[in-house]
Amino acid sequence: MTDPRISRRDFVNGCALSLAAGTSLSPLEAIAQDLLDPGALPPDYYPPTSQGMRGSHEGSFEVAHEARDGKTWRAVDAGDPTYDLVVVGGGLSGLAAAYFYRKQAGPDARILIIDNHDDFGGHAKRNEFWHDGRMHLVNGGTLNVEAPSQYSTIAAGLLWDLGIDRGRYFEKNRGMWSRYRDMGLGRGMFFDEETFGEDRLVVGWGDLPIGEFIRQAPVSDEVMLDAIRLYEEKKDYLPGLNAAEKRQTLTRMSYRDFVVNIVDCHPDVMHLFDTSLLGYFVTAMDAIPAIYARDMGYPGFDGMQIDDLPPNLLADVPGGAHGRENLERAHAGDPDMYFPDGNATIARLLVRSLIPDAADGGTMEDIVTAKVRYDQLDLDANKVRVRLNSTVIDVANVGGDRVETTYVTGDSAYTVRSRDVVLACWNTIIPHICREVPPEQGLALSYGRKSPLVYTGVLISNWQSWVEAGVSSVRAPGGFHPSIGLPPSLEIGDYQTSRDPAEPIVLRMSTYFYEPGHSRREQHRIGRNRMLATPFSTFEHHVRDQLSRILGPTGFDDERDILGITVNRWPHGYAYSYNPLFDPEEWAYSTTDERPCVIGRQRIGRIAIANSDAAASSHTDAAINEAYRAVNELLDA
Ligand SMILES: Cc1cc2nc3c(=O)[nH]c(=O)nc-3n(C[C@H](O)[C@H](O)[C@H](O)COP(=O)(O)OP(=O)(O)OC[C@H]3O[C@@H](n4cnc5c(N)ncnc54)[C@H](O)[C@@H]3O)c2cc1C
Repeated sequence: MTDPRISRRDFVNGCALSLAAGTSLSPLEAIAQDLLDPGALPPDYYPPTSQGMRGSHEGSFEVAHEARDGKTWRAVDAGDPTYDLVVVGGGLSGLAAAYFYRKQAGPDARILIIDNHDDFGGHAKRNEFWHDGRMHLVNGGTLNVEAPSQYSTIAAGLLWDLGIDRGRYFEKNRGMWSRYRDMGLGRGMFFDEETFGEDRLVVGWGDLPIGEFIRQAPVSDEVMLDAIRLYEEKKDYLPGLNAAEKRQTLTRMSYRDFVVNIVDCHPDVMHLFDTSLLGYFVTAMDAIPAIYARDMGYPGFDGMQIDDLPPNLLADVPGGAHGRENLERAHAGDPDMYFPDGNATIARLLVRSLIPDAADGGTMEDIVTAKVRYDQLDLDANKVRVRLNSTVIDVANVGGDRVETTYVTGDSAYTVRSRDVVLACWNTIIPHICREVPPEQGLALSYGRKSPLVYTGVLISNWQSWVEAGVSSVRAPGGFHPSIGLPPSLEIGDYQTSRDPAEPIVLRMSTYFYEPGHSRREQHRIGRNRMLATPFSTFEHHVRDQLSRILGPTGFDDERDILGITVNRWPHGYAYSYNPLFDPEEWAYSTTDERPCVIGRQRIGRIAIANSDAAASSHTDAAINEAYRAVNELLDA
């Protein structure tokens, strides 16, 4: 029997929370109709369980777009006391900024965090499914603590302060992926009829020698032989150039151009790779430098004698700096850490630390199953408050010693005052809400374009069809969701990912919106527009269609087996990172102050700028580092 919280109606309509007998309005609709005091959310307000279209959900972005387009509002005083700090954006950077500010300014610091979504965490969002009284979690966005051993002292220190103990974590979770391998499940590639002429799942990608794998795929002999040649031929494809010149040439050439034009492979060989770096760059392979592919271990370079990147290049840059750092260093230390709801665990730990009444417990284990009390987030009595469903439309220095911040909740605008403001929102909105931004800084803030991607969680009643097929993840080069997989098999406190294939589990499916043939930024722009025009029903259709075609032969039945779908769309996803195909090479390979992210993040009076955009790095440690810098700029000022 399906839990009522994941009913069919939820699939179609997304979240529908019952506010009072006879009403079934979303919190945003209720606020807009003045049925709900924005500071007093109803006790059953619990966004993590909402289904349908999440991520940048309806109601979260419209006001920002209107502000961008010049709409003005008449604001009234919110009636709040003067804060020490107002933070715009309740993602990991904004929450970390509040944490650092309070730590340095003292426990009496009064802080307000304002976010336009109905939940805190920004990209680090939690999706909670319930079935037969059991909770099943998945990340709605920010997935993992990538390369935790490379986190800065600041970022690693914050995680430690919050109770994230890597030693304890890995004691239980070293086998999060090997557990599937031990069951005989590997990686598969699904060749679809539309792209390859027939539907076929081939198992063993990455495990079998390429020849053995590709021979089972529905591709022409020419494609098969070229793919084998690409992997196995050890040839210098750029004879006459020395090692440095080769690196330089491959820096300015896409991997696609290298494979097709230099190695002279059939263009269809690219199907093997087309989707494999989407999770990092959200662009086609024609916008990814060949040298990134080489430095990440992609085939074709074995006979080329190219110098490796220096081991300490970009040692201070957050995340894996994909393709821009020495491979050995990238994989040094602990592996990536996953929590069942992704880095929403970090957001929840931050909120519990800032507002202790918001959730019970005190460990990294118990936060996973804790129920956050959303009605405790924005109380007068709190020193730290989190105000959701509110979009900041104006931030202005007043008289040199305070800042006024105006936000819109529902149809009404309110102003609050503070000594300091941290803008932990996205760079591109800043010039539209802070009119003091000088033109050159405004251009720098507008330079990067965030990438559009969608993470979909699908609760299924059992995963026997996966076991039968022998796969734990599937890449689908021609599919709407090019990446589909079982979640990491985790055990944290009372929470355990299903280990019995007869039990329900949440699948993770990803979609990326991009357009080959354009610059990276243009691929993101076109992709974002297409994403916003894609309704939930299209996502649902492709979830059902792909799972049925890939796993139907081993027993999957979408009507019977799918219990819930949550689509997290992120039109403004990863922070833009520099790429030598389209940006100056030194922006990609150094931390020069010439980079737009540095010019853009300069303090404006008592307004400082955080967010991972300020580091041009799409990683959690970037979000935390930038929060720390922004707070210190204010406290030192
Ligand atoms: C799908 C996805 C997967 C990811 N996976 C990983 C991963 O595995 N590991 C990793 O390290 N990083 C990952 N990232 C990168 C992620 O962006 C960072 O790790 C981090 O979560 C960013 O935090 P942030 O606070 O800087 O930005 P955000 O999380 O974007 O938070 C900013 C918040 O400000 C809000 N805001 C914007 N404008 C306004 C306004 N005017 N008024 C009020 N609020 C506003 C936004 O809506 C948002 O809620 C992922 C990102 C996405 C989108």
